[in-house]
Amino acid sequence: MLKIDFNRENLDKCLCPGCPVQKESNCIKDQVIEMEEVSHDIDIDSGVMIGPDEVPKLYCSTGKSKCNDLYTHEECQCPQCDVWKENDLEARGAPAYFCVNGRAVECCKITGDEDFDAKSREMRRTYYTPI
Ligand code: SF4
Ligand code: SF4
Repeated sequence: MLKIDFNRENLDKCLCPGCPVQKESNCIKDQVIEMEEVSHDIDIDSGVMIGPDEVPKLYCSTGKSKCNDLYTHEECQCPQCDVWKENDLEARGAPAYFCVNGRAVECCKITGDEDFDAKSREMRRTYYTPI
């Protein structure tokens, strides 16, 4: 089953922070400020934590954004992202815009692993078929 880990490596690859869909969202700006405050919290014993669903990126792993002021008429950056490419999300039929469509594991059911294998075989066959 398709699973995209919420880890530092994928967070670093994610292109959501610069994406015009969420760049001007006041709700996202508040989430970023909250994240920065938590990461700079000098009181290490305060127990202040932030959950993955509060982090405004890597939606393909965590699911829909809680913000409802996203500019979805702008272009999603996911197809340019290494996480997208490494997980073959194009071939799996991912609709991108994970911040509004939800996690990849949910949205990509339309092309399950069996279908994906068949599609890959078909693509290879087409590619190598002699003219
Ligand atoms: S999931 Fe796509 S549309 Fe949403 S913020 Fe990330 S890159 Fe932009
Ligand atoms: S595919 Fe989209 S949501 Fe997932 S890491 Fe890349 S830019 Fe972020």
